[in-house]
Amino acid sequence: MTLRRVRESETLRSSPVETLNPLMDRRKFLKSAGVGLGVGAAGSLVPNPIFREASAAAVEAPKLAQYKTICTKCAVGCGLIGEVKDGVWVSQEPWFEHPINQGSLCAKGAAARSAVISDKRLRYPMKLSGGKWQRISWDQGMSEISAKLLELRKKYGPDALHINFSAHFSNEHGYGIRKWAGMWGTNNVDFQARI
Ligand code: SF4
Repeated sequence: MTLRRVRESETLRSSPVETLNPLMDRRKFLKSAGVGLGVGAAGSLVPNPIFREASAAAVEAPKLAQYKTICTKCAVGCGLIGEVKDGVWVSQEPWFEHPINQGSLCAKGAAARSAVISDKRLRYPMKLSGGKWQRISWDQGMSEISAKLLELRKKYGPDALHINFSAHFSNEHGYGIRKWAGMWGTNNVDFQARI
């Protein structure tokens, strides 16, 4: 899908748009909105501290620094604009001029921040024990997994293992995992998008 930057003046000049309400076409809607605006304008002449406070708050947008960057979730290399506040990446905007994706992103790129901030993100080792997931220490996790792997390699050889990683990983993650597979002694390594 190609995204297109639409300016406000363009939307007002555009041809009639169908609405979901058969009794309300665009012209009627604008006309009734004009009545509403007229009442609103008259109301604004009356001093009202509540209205003044609300409009002052509405125009105060947070100051966000924008950085052009590249999505690392696959080799396509789509561009996006990360918005940063106080050193934290808080939102993102389309990078329309980027030659690869022209502003659009797939689901992984659109959710790039969630890989870090999602509540569902796995943050520590978990072990299924007696049908229930339990948190264990990193030391326990590493010891149990490496002991099991060595046992399997001794019994069935290094090609008994297939190492499958996620296309959500960065290129650097993929490089590290491929190196680890070579150290283990197998070429059985791939990522999920090719399966
Ligand atoms: S994961 Fe999606 S958004 Fe990111 S580079 Fe690949 S295609 Fe583009």
